[in-house]
Amino acid sequence: MRLEDVRIVLVGTSHPGNIGAAARAMRAMGLERLHLAAPQCDPLDAQACAQAAHGEALLHQAVVHPDLDAALSGCQLAYGLSARRRAERHPVRELRPAAEEAAAQAGGEQAWVFGRERTGLTNVELDRCHYLVHIPTDPACSSLNVAQSVQLVAWELRMAAGAAPAAGAAAGPEPAGVDALERFFGHLEEVAGAVGYLRRQNPELTMRRMRNLFRRAQPTDDELRMLRGLFNHILDHRRWS
Ligand code: SAH
Repeated sequence: MRLEDVRIVLVGTSHPGNIGAAARAMRAMGLERLHLAAPQCDPLDAQACAQAAHGEALLHQAVVHPDLDAALSGCQLAYGLSARRRAERHPVRELRPAAEEAAAQAGGEQAWVFGRERTGLTNVELDRCHYLVHIPTDPACSSLNVAQSVQLVAWELRMAAGAAPAAGAAAGPEPAGVDALERFFGHLEEVAGAVGYLRRQNPELTMRRMRNLFRRAQPTDDELRMLRGLFNHILDHRRWS
């Protein structure tokens, strides 16, 4: 991983000061790509600029998206930051090992996704992420300010990137990115629905478990193509039988 490939994605942020403080935190650690999904305030508000200090340029370059899906487009991996541990739903990593793993990834952009000040990320948004990342705190007080969370993540990524072997050193083909995976999950859901499988299960939970399974496997584009070929055969077979 290179620090240039790290995207910080803030979802539904309401306070401009938090966007500014996040930009400052990023700038200090050498991160530059700030993406805002459905921000609830103006990222160039005077308060945002005041908080950003020498990170103000990041506010001007920030990319604004209508939702998280759009903000993740083009990424290879997505990490969703959550103050709560929802282990039964998503694979959870603590920040340090997650950053070390992320730093060892070969190429492509990776997104680190932060939630709303009051309500965090929804389960549907967390479903879009490969891993849920928790910053360990005193258990009685686990919810940090969003910009402070960005600071800790940016610091851990900087430390981990310094310690990791040179980017590109990892052998083997690259795993498929977020867009190809989303198309695959859509196709999987379609075929599972067409053969009546989802009717017998809790569809939301089943699809979440499928997502976890396939993300853990880190399939390549070729492997997804193979599985989607199989899905097409199943769908054709049903149509003609
Ligand atoms: N009440 C919300 C907390 C929102 S804090 C909730 O329970 O989810 C705003 C954002 O900061 C969170 O969505 C998350 O992305 C990040 N954050 C705050 N504390 C964190 C922690 N201990 N670990 C990981 N992320 C954290």
